[in-house]
Amino acid sequence: LGNLKNHLVRERVIHGQSVENLVLLGLPDKEFSILEPRLEYVQLENAAVLEREGARIDEVFFINHGIALMVVETIEGKSVEVGLIGRGSMVGLQAAAGMDDFTHGVTMLTAGNGLRVATGALQESLPSMPELRRMLLRRLAIRSVELAQNAACNRIHSVKARLARLLLTMHNRLDTDLISTTQHALSRMVGTDRPTVTLSLSSLQQDGAIEVGYASINISKRKKLEKQACACYLISKRFDAELGLRT
Ligand SMILES: [Zn+2]
Repeated sequence: LGNLKNHLVRERVIHGQSVENLVLLGLPDKEFSILEPRLEYVQLENAAVLEREGARIDEVFFINHGIALMVVETIEGKSVEVGLIGRGSMVGLQAAAGMDDFTHGVTMLTAGNGLRVATGALQESLPSMPELRRMLLRRLAIRSVELAQNAACNRIHSVKARLARLLLTMHNRLDTDLISTTQHALSRMVGTDRPTVTLSLSSLQQDGAIEVGYASINISKRKKLEKQACACYLISKRFDAELGLRT
C-alpha cells in the first residue's frame, strides 16, 4: 500500500514526457534522481522487438504505455506468448537479479512508449538503489508465480474462461476500454486455434461482457467479464493491485 500511495501523488517528467511507469513513479526522489540521467524516452511501435530470445539483455525498458508480450519459440519454429508486461513492470527483469545472458523474446503487442536504460547502467545503479532493487526482485518473484499459474491454467481451464482472464489482465494494463488486438494474436496467447477463439469471443459478447470489433475488443461490462474468467484471475488481480494497476 505504501507504493500505491506514493505513486498516486507523484508526477514525474522526463524529456518533456510524463512518466506513467509505476515502478519509476514509486521510487523515492533520491533513487529516481540517480536513474533519471540514464533513462531515454523511446516510442515503441506495434510489433517492435525489445528483447530477442536467448540473447544477452543489453537494454531494459520501463513500459509507459502499451503492452509487451513475452514469447517462447520452440525448436520446431512455433512460438507461444507466455506473459504480458505493461506499465506496472519492466522488460528485462532478470537483469535485476544478475541474469542478463538469456531472455525470452519480448515484442510489443500494441504501440506504446517507454523509458530505456542500458543493462550495465541499471546494474551499476542498483547497489545505491535499494528500493528499486526490492521492487524489481518482487516483480520477478510475482512473474514466476504467474507463469506457474498460467501453466496450470492452460491445462485445466476452458478457452472461454482463459480468454476472459487474458482480456482482464490486458485491460488492467491499458488506460482505455478498447483493446487493439487481433483474434490471431489472442489465439496465440491462449494457446489454441483461431476458430475456438472466435467462438469464445462471441460467447463472451452474448454474455454482454465485450463487443468484438475488427482488430479490437471493447470491454463494455467489466463485471460481467470477471464472472466468466477462471479463478486464476483472482491471483492476477491481487498482484496487479499490488503493482498499482487498475483491477
Ligand atoms: Zn485459469
